[in-house]
Amino acid sequence: MRRAAEEAGRQGLAALVVAPSPDLRYLCGYDPMPLERPTLLVLRPGGEPRMLVPELERLLAASAPGSRVFDLVGWTDGDDPYDAAAGMLPHEGRIGAGDRMWAAHLIGLQAAVPGARFEPASRVLGRLRAVKDDEELAALRRAGRAADETFRQILRARFQGRREEEVAADLADLLVANGHASADFTIVASGANAASPHHEPGGRTILPRDAVVMDFGGELAGYYSDTSRTVVVGEEPEGFREVYELVHEAQEAAFRAVRPGVPAQDVDAVARGIIEEAGYGDRFIHRTGHGIGLEVHEDPYIVRGNDSRLDVGTTFSIEPGIYLEGRFGVRIEDIVAVTADGADRFNRSTRDLQVVD
Ligand code: ZN
Ligand code: ZN
Ligand code: ZN
Repeated sequence: MRRAAEEAGRQGLAALVVAPSPDLRYLCGYDPMPLERPTLLVLRPGGEPRMLVPELERLLAASAPGSRVFDLVGWTDGDDPYDAAAGMLPHEGRIGAGDRMWAAHLIGLQAAVPGARFEPASRVLGRLRAVKDDEELAALRRAGRAADETFRQILRARFQGRREEEVAADLADLLVANGHASADFTIVASGANAASPHHEPGGRTILPRDAVVMDFGGELAGYYSDTSRTVVVGEEPEGFREVYELVHEAQEAAFRAVRPGVPAQDVDAVARGIIEEAGYGDRFIHRTGHGIGLEVHEDPYIVRGNDSRLDVGTTFSIEPGIYLEGRFGVRIEDIVAVTADGADRFNRSTRDLQVVD
């Protein structure tokens, strides 16, 4: 909270206001359900943290680790909580509002302090959250290992003749069996469906000569895993090997390009350059990666236009892909962490093409 308030001050913000969300959990360990009754943590440069809470949740908030540091200000049903918030906020200048605050709460705050200008708090908090401490890195490493074990085990499953949603259910079970608290996404995209990066696994029966993209992950001790591998069922479809090797090479090259001080967009450019040179540039239809931690997608985004530099301890995905509509798709994804002299992979399962039954 102190670092966030200082960083807000450095960026010229008069305050940060954060509602229940991963931001709030990150700042003070408090993780209540986001509801229509506002709970708002207010941080001001040079000031003490204060949290506005609905009176019925005062005891709950007082049990949060951060409550040793912040003052609790209660509000009671029937009162106007935004009036109460106005008493804690500056009435002019710029205020960073948590990106995942409900629109209804932000609109309430805007009306209560009409002289202030609100902007996304991620400009401050995104940078802080991007750089993980040792405990966070250990949690992400564990989540990565559990996802790798899940992949190793799914390779033994039968693909041919089963529906995508059945394999997806296997993946979800394995994620939990390997230590995840929950499975959050299990993309299984087979045949022509593999050309749709966010395909929702459905009733399609997996056939021989299908490429199958699997992209799965979940939460373990508050931190997320996220990995993708592409396998083939028996023989490869026509033209598949060349595309697979290209994605594999792009993924390796992007990984080797990671070191402290490199702009995020350079990592994207390395992967994209290899795929463009081979003539598939227009079939790599998404950015190269995203930060990961308390959320599956968070800062920094590995994308053209993001010139922010990678710091030691930053974790993100490297996941180039090529998608040929009507035919097949390929994606290979690992989570990596920036180290003093390069990068460390949190996913170590084989990236060599695996043939399944
Ligand atoms: Zn995605
Ligand atoms: Zn993924
Ligand atoms: Zn991802």
